[in-house]
Amino acid sequence: MGDVRFTCRRCGGTLTRPVRRLEAVPERHHDGGFEFDPTMAQGTWATEPRRVVPTDDGRSVTIDSFLVLNREDLTDLTDHPDPRRHVGCCGRDGGHGPNIVCPRCGAEIGVIRDDCWTPQEVRLDPSAVRIVDLPPGPYA
Ligand SMILES: [Zn+2]
Repeated sequence: MGDVRFTCRRCGGTLTRPVRRLEAVPERHHDGGFEFDPTMAQGTWATEPRRVVPTDDGRSVTIDSFLVLNREDLTDLTDHPDPRRHVGCCGRDGGHGPNIVCPRCGAEIGVIRDDCWTPQEVRLDPSAVRIVDLPPGPYA
């Protein structure tokens, strides 16, 4: 697949720079110290597959798939207006619902995680965005 960009499903506004798809999300790892490296290298994206994870009380929950990107590839990082969505320690842990919105229409588009104990990544909601194929670059 060639380069694509993501647009808002509601208004069609551009959300990202051109990005190239990787087959899978790279393994998340610490940088040797306390913090995580960015999950995705700038200019790349990948789909986190839908998966079932066990809960502490012996049940399980299904986590829907989402699209993982580097925050630097968003053309405009726009915070959700509700401060309760931005809970975290040093940043945003991303566990309180969508916390970024479309800069043009305000639609909830996904989550940014940039807390000290979380992976550093943007997760776009596949139901909130469209993937637009680009003709061959360069896009310098
Ligand atoms: Zn929009």
